[in-house]
Amino acid sequence: MLSQAVSGKNLQIVQPGRAEPAGEPKKSLFGLDRAGLSAVMVERGEPAWRGKQLAEAMYIQRVASLSEITTLAKSLRQQLEGDNWEVNCPRIVQAFRSVDGTERYLVQGQVDDAQPVETVWMPEGDEGEAGDGSEEEGKSWSRATICVSSQVGCAVNCQFCLTAKLGLQRNLTAGEIAGQVVAVLDRQAVEVGKERVNLVFMGMGEPFLNYENFMGAVRLLVEEVGISPQRMTVSTSGIVPGIERFAQEPPDVRPKLAISLNAPNDEVRSEVMPINRKWPIEAVMDAVRQVRLRPRERVTFEYVLLGGVTDRPEHAREVARLLRRTGLPAKVNLIAWNPGPGIAFAMPQAGAVENFRRVLSGEGVPTYLRRPRGRDIYAACGQLKRTVEG
Ligand code: SAH
Ligand code: SF4
Repeated sequence: MLSQAVSGKNLQIVQPGRAEPAGEPKKSLFGLDRAGLSAVMVERGEPAWRGKQLAEAMYIQRVASLSEITTLAKSLRQQLEGDNWEVNCPRIVQAFRSVDGTERYLVQGQVDDAQPVETVWMPEGDEGEAGDGSEEEGKSWSRATICVSSQVGCAVNCQFCLTAKLGLQRNLTAGEIAGQVVAVLDRQAVEVGKERVNLVFMGMGEPFLNYENFMGAVRLLVEEVGISPQRMTVSTSGIVPGIERFAQEPPDVRPKLAISLNAPNDEVRSEVMPINRKWPIEAVMDAVRQVRLRPRERVTFEYVLLGGVTDRPEHAREVARLLRRTGLPAKVNLIAWNPGPGIAFAMPQAGAVENFRRVLSGEGVPTYLRRPRGRDIYAACGQLKRTVEG
């Protein structure tokens, strides 16, 4: 059923791959921060502020090649090219479009011959109405969310997740993580600062098992691309050392935190998320309590409803008790399980999701339903697995 939907409705855009010249390996400028770019310039006898020009060209103007950076003298650009430097921003090599407007992209990373990574664009809003007509033609959204991957595949092995089936293929670099965002912003012609874009690090992989690169990407996105960390949410399956490190990050670069709770108690959680045997719920909560929240900030708890396994009203009451015990300002994001081939769970029965939400809200827990997006193109939560059927 699903693959039929995939072959019937998506739009596939294929661009030819880049031919790689033989010889010295190329070095990517994209992914370096201001200090790194300034160092490249200073090495060439140029003033450090030329690093800022490079950063603006790559992260704000989103140039694809050195030849487009006209703020630098041609001779300097040629010198950089001669030294094997190139911009090398990750690029979208394939796109799938859902009936609901969601787009799933395969993004080719900076590492040659590596598998592409998946990124999802989810526009929200006025469904094609241009309001007063002043909007650029083709813009049909008033806010949008980009779902970003941090690894290719994942090592965590949650039983309900399609990405887990890939195993961990590799960590993404900071440039590859931030590059997904820049590539999508460019494709959608987003003006950062004017248009509302949220980032969720909820694509493929476990961000806290690729911590340095994940936070490196966040710093680039905040400091160079200009997106506020308060518009970013990182989701973790509960990697305690990662959460403890995250708690030490300064607030001006710390995204909001989401924890994949997904079960009402340790017994069920260990079954659906084996990582719970290493870091059980209480250990995760202890780590989360170390994060100094901003005023009015809440910790999001994601909860995937698995039919018959985690979706009963008594589970909802147990979740409410559990969250009360933590003393944390919490909100719950309910996600009806998205099916995938080879995964033996059931979707919740009609009414179970709404019932669950009602019980939690009745217990005083702010609760939201995450609408499934892009199921027909394998773009919904837990479905990212480099599915290329077109
Ligand atoms: N690895 C991180 C972030 C990526 S997963 C994490 O697990 O938190 C993002 C969210 O999708 C998680 O909350 C996860 O529980 C949820 N998810 C995974 N597979 C799903 C599926 N098949 N249906 C619905 N949600 C799923
Ligand atoms: Fe990895 Fe998250 Fe999927 Fe678990 S839910 S396997 S942590 S991507």
